[in-house]
Amino acid sequence: MLAIVLGSAAGGGVPQWNCACDNCQAARRDDGVRRRTQDCVAVTADGRRWFLLNASPDIARQIEDTAKLWPAGARRHSPIAGVVLTNGDLDHCLGLLSLREWTPFSLYATAPTLAGLFEQNAMFRTLDRQRPHAVRRPLVLGDPVAPLLDSDAGAAVAVAGRCGLDRKREFARRVRALGASLTVNFVLHRGNLERLDQFIDLALELGADRVELAHTQYHGWAVLNRRTLSPSPAQIEAADRTVARAARRHAGVIELVYVTPEITAEAGSPDHGRPPGSSAGSTRGR
Ligand SMILES: [Zn+2]
Repeated sequence: MLAIVLGSAAGGGVPQWNCACDNCQAARRDDGVRRRTQDCVAVTADGRRWFLLNASPDIARQIEDTAKLWPAGARRHSPIAGVVLTNGDLDHCLGLLSLREWTPFSLYATAPTLAGLFEQNAMFRTLDRQRPHAVRRPLVLGDPVAPLLDSDAGAAVAVAGRCGLDRKREFARRVRALGASLTVNFVLHRGNLERLDQFIDLALELGADRVELAHTQYHGWAVLNRRTLSPSPAQIEAADRTVARAARRHAGVIELVYVTPEITAEAGSPDHGRPPGSSAGSTRGR
């Protein structure tokens, strides 16, 4: 993992607007004390997709000061795939308001933090104007999540360009060795539904306490993949039966969480699933 410290000052930064202490004055004079922006860290596992640990009020400037976080390729793009909030401090959240120019990202935080932002605070709802924008991913403290693409390496490569199954097995082994609980998550689509039983077996083999079997959600740019990934109604019915059977068979051993498909290829798309700038007609299912 690679980490870049984008900012290292406490709230207010150095110099702070209303502070005439020796440090702030020296920073203003460029006299042995460096100016510092407010604390924020960017991390990546693959050098391409970056996650911000908190979004400081200085985030726009921090991004511009860090070439690895600049858009590349498409006209609208960001290598920032997500933001992980460690708490609901304004010093950690205000930067979200500077990321409101429509590019979707995952927002990881505990449920109380997400509720504080979006239910008890009207301003952050600007990130909800069009879904998906800040895609909320509730974190359960002490509960590692290991997302898995497939039990079949070839299929994982077809979707992700590579297979991380061995590394994820190792991750699961370490989590179990720590005695922590483990949730594994499979994202379901047309190309892997037939292996649903194998996914549940793999979760059992990894020693997971919980397995999330979640159909792909087709929002925003993901609608471009819907024709390729949407399962047929018959596949969905079969999957429903498989999950119900497995839930009975493994009751008390592993918790099954099943996220049903929101739409099918036949059902059309809700308007909010449209990518920005596209016409509704072009994104309808078959
Ligand atoms: Zn000061």
